[in-house]
Amino acid sequence: MQTVDQFNFNNEKVLMRVDFNVPLNDNMDIVDDSRIRAAVPTIQKVLHDGGALILMSHLGRPKEGTEDRFSLKHLIARIAELTGAKVLFANDCIGAEAIQKAEELQAGGILLLENLRFHKAETKGDIDFAHKLAQLGTFYVNDAFGTAHRAHASTAIIAQFFSHKKCFGFLMANEISNAQKVLSNPQKPFTAIVGGAKVSDKLLIIENLMNLAQNILIGGGMAFTFAKAQGGKIGNSLCEDDRIDLCKELIHKAKSKGVNLVLPVDSIVADKFAPDANSAQASNDNIPDGWMGLDIGEKSMLEFCSIIEKSKTVLWNGPMGVFEMDKFSKGTQKVAEALATATKQGAFTLIGGGDSAAAIHKFGLANQVSYVSTGGGALLEYFEGKELPGIVAIEGSSSINA
Ligand code: AMP
Repeated sequence: MQTVDQFNFNNEKVLMRVDFNVPLNDNMDIVDDSRIRAAVPTIQKVLHDGGALILMSHLGRPKEGTEDRFSLKHLIARIAELTGAKVLFANDCIGAEAIQKAEELQAGGILLLENLRFHKAETKGDIDFAHKLAQLGTFYVNDAFGTAHRAHASTAIIAQFFSHKKCFGFLMANEISNAQKVLSNPQKPFTAIVGGAKVSDKLLIIENLMNLAQNILIGGGMAFTFAKAQGGKIGNSLCEDDRIDLCKELIHKAKSKGVNLVLPVDSIVADKFAPDANSAQASNDNIPDGWMGLDIGEKSMLEFCSIIEKSKTVLWNGPMGVFEMDKFSKGTQKVAEALATATKQGAFTLIGGGDSAAAIHKFGLANQVSYVSTGGGALLEYFEGKELPGIVAIEGSSSINA
């Protein structure tokens, strides 16, 4: 893997794609700066080598043209504070001002470009736009794993303008190598835990994981489509009726491959979708009318935790229930604790982005697992066995098919 470690950036103008898509409040203050912090090691490497750095990112989902609430200018002070460098700003990511400021940029300095997505050409992967961006720098670094699954101008298309002078930043390299620990030759037994609201979002990953994992544990709202596929009565629980046949196929496929596909046997059910709902335990094949499953039940928690604690490799993507509400967070918390126990016993445990990352942070266990990925959609697609354009653009083939 080509990473910043293998290069010296003295006298280079390094054009670096970062993911500074941070949440801002109504006063345009940064609510959580972890995405900026995550890029600091790569930024420091370039600056310490004697390079100058041009940072480009998207922020939010602007519709058309410039919108103040999506401007990257709100990040200038925090970037300067976290890097100790002087940060200049270009009001447009391409054009005369950006060109002039990039030319004048001194070694050790940072030029932050305005939001890439103020140009529709960015998400369209427009080659002329990519070329204009490319002309600002002499070296391209991609440290934005969160957008690696998109063939956008700044994440993939741009790389062709830097024949050898291109590589991954530390964050991106870390994400790839941790995912590869699970994808290529994971230590057995390998247990994958898949949860979350919708089974339709996770069908491909479950299917691909059947080629790798010995155990696949299913939790969250998606478990009820499986329960119905097995003939269960699921009350008002989440269900995607148009996916019932696919769930049947997955159950069949797991059997024929000898994969232990574990569905929850019970649930914590509620009489409404609210933190103050009445709750009770119910068997997953007999949830009373008017009630809905919002967390896995006690028996399922015990079974899931026992499998996780015996595993040598664990991948977790998606919560076991509505963990945002305390009353329905126990299943997700127990799974998080089981991952921490497995890690202590020497297992490699990877938390895959989005809600599972939020959950592990909520329970204060993020530093007791092996790695918490920052890339939700990107990681999911990697585990679906897809090529990620942001990786391919630098390395050639990205996917390790299971
Ligand atoms: P996803 O984005 O598909 O990973 O889903 C995450 C969301 O699923 C979280 O916001 C959870 O609150 C929600 N969720 C998990 N389990 C259930 C459930 N049993 N019923 C409804 N929503 C759920």
